[in-house]
Amino acid sequence: MHEYGIAYDIVVTSREVALDNNATEITHIYVDVGELSIINPEQVEFLFYAIIEDDSLFKNAKLICTKIAPLTRCSCGYVGDEIFVCPRCGQLPEIEKGKEVVVTRVKIEVN
Ligand SMILES: [Zn+2]
Repeated sequence: MHEYGIAYDIVVTSREVALDNNATEITHIYVDVGELSIINPEQVEFLFYAIIEDDSLFKNAKLICTKIAPLTRCSCGYVGDEIFVCPRCGQLPEIEKGKEVVVTRVKIEVN
């Protein structure tokens, strides 16, 4: 299950950030989810909360997913959100953004 791996990675990444900063608690985790990543953010959220269930570091943690629109670039100079056919020259554009799932920010409590 693809979503499980992603949810698990989010937990591992935010735990690392929290421990590096002597956090006692994680309150919010912000994640960018590219629209082309073919994952279901609701599924990731569900699995995330299942993974952290008995973890005191994540007791009040909220996962906030933001969908990121695709950004493509073509050798002709086109930049936009067309992912299959460049509207200027008809070639296949390169996908620069929109496939990734990235933890962008972790909010913590330090006591
Ligand atoms: Zn083009």
